[in-house]
Amino acid sequence: MSMHTHETRSTCCYCGVGCGVIIEHDRDRITGVRGDPEHPANFGRLCTKGSTLHLSARQETRALHPELRATRELPRTRVSWDTALEHAADRFAAIIREHGPDAVAFYISGQLLTEDYYVFNKLAKGLIGTNNVDTNSRLCMSSAVTAYKQTLGADAPPCSYEDIDHTDCLLIAGGNPAYAHPIVYRRIEDARKANPAMKMIVVDPRRTDTAADADLHLPLLPGTDIWLYSAMLHVLLWEGLADERFISAHTEGFPELRRHVRDITPAIASEICGLRSEDIVTAARWFGESKAAMSMWCQGLNQSHHGTHNGTALIALHLATGQIGRPGAGPFSLTGQPNAMGGREVGGMATLLSAHRDLASPADRDEVARFWGVPDVPAKPGLTAVELFDAVRDGRVKAVWIACTNPAHSMPDQARIVEALQAAEFVVVQDASRSTESAAFADLLLPATTWGEKDGTVTNSERRITHVQPALPAPGEARADWLIVRDFAHLLGPRLGKDSATLFPYASAAEVFAEHAESTRGRDLDISGLSHALLDRIGPQQWPFPDGARSGTPRLYTERHFATPNGRARFVVPTTATTAEKIDARYPLHLNTGRLRDHWHCMSRTGQVARLYSHVDEARVELHADDLARRGLADGDLVRVKSRRGQIVLRAHASEAQRPGSAFVAMHWGRNMLSSSGANALTAGRVDPHSKQPELKHAAIQVSRA
Ligand code: SF4
Repeated sequence: MSMHTHETRSTCCYCGVGCGVIIEHDRDRITGVRGDPEHPANFGRLCTKGSTLHLSARQETRALHPELRATRELPRTRVSWDTALEHAADRFAAIIREHGPDAVAFYISGQLLTEDYYVFNKLAKGLIGTNNVDTNSRLCMSSAVTAYKQTLGADAPPCSYEDIDHTDCLLIAGGNPAYAHPIVYRRIEDARKANPAMKMIVVDPRRTDTAADADLHLPLLPGTDIWLYSAMLHVLLWEGLADERFISAHTEGFPELRRHVRDITPAIASEICGLRSEDIVTAARWFGESKAAMSMWCQGLNQSHHGTHNGTALIALHLATGQIGRPGAGPFSLTGQPNAMGGREVGGMATLLSAHRDLASPADRDEVARFWGVPDVPAKPGLTAVELFDAVRDGRVKAVWIACTNPAHSMPDQARIVEALQAAEFVVVQDASRSTESAAFADLLLPATTWGEKDGTVTNSERRITHVQPALPAPGEARADWLIVRDFAHLLGPRLGKDSATLFPYASAAEVFAEHAESTRGRDLDISGLSHALLDRIGPQQWPFPDGARSGTPRLYTERHFATPNGRARFVVPTTATTAEKIDARYPLHLNTGRLRDHWHCMSRTGQVARLYSHVDEARVELHADDLARRGLADGDLVRVKSRRGQIVLRAHASEAQRPGSAFVAMHWGRNMLSSSGANALTAGRVDPHSKQPELKHAAIQVSRA
């Protein structure tokens, strides 16, 4: 019999599917979790990760009180909140006064709630006067953001999960939803059962579980995605499957792209992509002949030094065939993190402004400054994730505040990040866990609340905003993230001669949300009609939801009017680049990184749940049996995996999912690996010029016996 006495509605804090959960709890303990049958993202379903959330709550590794160290040589000791925040305000104010506002930076997280994100963004851009606020969403979705903006005019995913039920051709590119977005995948399975004629094409270098289920798997060579989509467009044009009326009525820039793809035949692309040309033709035909074609993409496209153009090339297939703005049709980026969308909405990144406003536009900057009641917001773009830690490393940024993320694990080229954190004058880590790799570098550790304890909103991949409620009071002295930032701002403002009490007047997360909602009035993502109270009454809603609306908006661009100044969607001529780093005789293998089914990010939560090790129980490098044999290795041997930047030791695993010449290492394991660092010891920080997203998906490596 269940012992719990209370139930509280929340969402799963892992992936961007954003499943609703009901937390079962008593006064000070979460006793269980089950799927919320009324939540439209999951209708009661949960995957292995979500259904074990309660087992990961209240860990021994929780940060429970602030800790400070006077010098790097000393251990941190417990201090009061007053001492901690006064000290942080003194250090930040001194650095800002001496070196200017750009000498400090904030590195935050797609796992924060929207209200937390909003307050951090306002702290940096409104109070301090720097755009140096970036986030781990830079590693996740920033290429999707720039691809949407370049083609459709706004960072707005046009589809809903419901479209899965209506599509008859689903193209999944650079994603493994069977592992990374399992509840979306359940919906795909249901749709295929209901409509056996539906085609599923999966583009992925590995034969993942998703790829194994596909009607057509295109196991392309890493980095060659654009060539595939260009060749598919070539076929669509050659076979008369393009929608010329749609192109001329609703788009611009097609003649240039048509010229670009004229010579990219399936035969040429097949050489570059390592695919059979007849499979490229089949994929194009299925896409072009379907009544409703939908694409889904994830990090395989985004985490590339041409991630933006990977996205624009895929979106071009929709624009060339008019497959957008109808049930079952459209491009749909799946967000990795639970609230990467919310962060984008508040503009909580170094290159964005509030409510999809443009940092480069003086009028937009002026609007934000007037809304906040500050003289101006800075025009100079802030440092994006990779740039930010490079600046910390070479001393341009002297103080960095990290919240709810673990860059010493998740950033590419880990050794550089470690050097940066060692070089910083002052590192603040605000986190629920005191045991992350990054927490080891904290001069000041601030304990934050986490899942089941927080009040605020999240937006999932389909633009759906859910109000999550706290089931438990904060443990120890932990505080809500937005509250920590508000109190810090109140102390910092006077030290900079600014009135921060008026700028940060919030007494609750609901008040922060109300200000954010008002900032969106009249914008494409207008949610001026929403409040915490209304969300509690009518349930999760998809934006836009303007003042006076009765319901949210499941599908965008149904009127064929896009968010560009002239209403026309744009075609983009893509780069012809492949991978940033080429394989060669010394580093002859392509490394691909990605997720496992049962773990999440750096495992600070899932790593605590014994049963989540039953799928894969240790870090390993997966290789084709031929590649093992060529090196005289057998399944289970310990091997050294080395790139130009670093090396790790782990067990080799023979896998039929790998193409010969390729290897896979999951992103999750960090210092709990045999070699005390994870896959990102190997990856490189080469970024996309538009999105500044690094190529975390690929590196050239060698494998030898350890
Ligand atoms: Fe959580 Fe994602 Fe699983 Fe849903 S699919 S339960 S959001 S991890």
